[in-house]
Amino acid sequence: MTEFTVLNPATEEPVTTVAQASAEQADQAIARAAAAQAAWRDVAPGDRARLLRSFAAAVDAHTEELAGLEVAGSGHPVGQARWEAGHVRDVLLYYSAAPERLCGRQIPVPGGLNVTFHEPVGVVGLIVPWNFPMPILSWGMAPALAAGNTVVAKPAEATPLTAMRIGELALEAGLPEGVFQVLPGKGSVVGQRLVDHPAVRKIVFTGSTEVGRQIMAGCARQVKRLTLELGGKSANIVFADANLVRAAATAPYAVFDNAGQDCCARSRILVQDSVLDRFMELLEPAVKGVAVGDPASAATEMGPLISAAHRAHVASYVPSGAPVAFRGSVPDGPGFWFPPTVLAPVRPDDPAYTEEVFGPVVTVTPFSDEADAVAIANDTPYGLSGSIWTSDVGRATFGGFKQSGLGRELGPDAPDAFTEVKNVFIATEE
Ligand code: NDP
Repeated sequence: MTEFTVLNPATEEPVTTVAQASAEQADQAIARAAAAQAAWRDVAPGDRARLLRSFAAAVDAHTEELAGLEVAGSGHPVGQARWEAGHVRDVLLYYSAAPERLCGRQIPVPGGLNVTFHEPVGVVGLIVPWNFPMPILSWGMAPALAAGNTVVAKPAEATPLTAMRIGELALEAGLPEGVFQVLPGKGSVVGQRLVDHPAVRKIVFTGSTEVGRQIMAGCARQVKRLTLELGGKSANIVFADANLVRAAATAPYAVFDNAGQDCCARSRILVQDSVLDRFMELLEPAVKGVAVGDPASAATEMGPLISAAHRAHVASYVPSGAPVAFRGSVPDGPGFWFPPTVLAPVRPDDPAYTEEVFGPVVTVTPFSDEADAVAIANDTPYGLSGSIWTSDVGRATFGGFKQSGLGRELGPDAPDAFTEVKNVFIATEE
């Protein structure tokens, strides 16, 4: 059996070791999920709703424990980690209302009517990245369970602890065995098996665009349903008519939250050239004021990166001679620290400007007018997120996905995406 040692990113000390599931164990978990599915589908909607509310209550009662695991195992600041555990509770509560609202339609047709039903697709495989282990787990888990599917979740190898505990809490809350399982292991083993196994009828993947492409190809081989939530390279556009003081004060949190390990990080700040100098004057103290340090401290705003390998990757975007305008500070000693860093001016072909860094590095680029800002913001294969600072609400609109994903879920209709619509004809004429 192989094991993975979870390191505390702030101290580099081992937290615990976790046994990695094999492909055979993945097959066994999928078989358990398939066996449990018919009974879970047949649980009366009101009872399924009650079980999801019990699950939410169990998560709520363990908020501190879950937050502590995320602080130790992922380096998330404790305030953020508490919010994340509470978010899992809230997502479960939100979707606990769904089973009783998963209604079909009546369609009048000659000689009778068609009635549609939302049937669960079966076993759903969730593949979760390391940057937000709890929220991203909940976004797939809750609507899939609400719709009557069973779920096998694979957390990221580096950050399995909170997902594993949430799996235990599901059982403690009364969800039947096999309905929600968490299987720690490698993406290339457990994740791949979820994609390849014919009994898994839908994959929900959040992660890099590169792995997302492979998973899409794997699902295509079986015409398997798929949701992809992929990378981003989002712009924070500051027009000259904006409240510059507020725009500069909040810009660091739009990119350095979770140490920049956020698909929605606004890692390109675009500033109208007439106010660029003033904006940079205001941005410098805001960046230097970000509280980077011990994630267990309530005052900390930014923790370490997830691993030494990831820190080396982030550092490759700031080679010696890089145009560092200014940067924040980090603690001395062990820990995978990287300071909040502002690069300006950057060349349009600088990888820090064109690629997703997934770390606390932001570029600042001037633009001349609205058309220029839109052209620069759109000059990326991604389209996930964005911020616009202006007092003219007419131009503050945003939209687009491009290579950032496919079939984004959440919202009230999310459980529908975990169902197949069945159409039954009911004759009303002899
Ligand atoms: P990866 O794509 O490397 O990994 C994501 C998950 O996929 C992990 O659980 C990983 O397992 C698993 N995996 C890896 N290879 C395979 C495979 N061949 N088959 C099946 N599963 C596999 O991404 P990161 O973990 O590095 O996460 C960061 C990325 O996630 C960033 O690009 C970011 O933009 C994106 N992201 C997107 C979000 C969105 O909502 N759009 C939200 C959050 C992040 P293992 O851990 O074992 O490698």
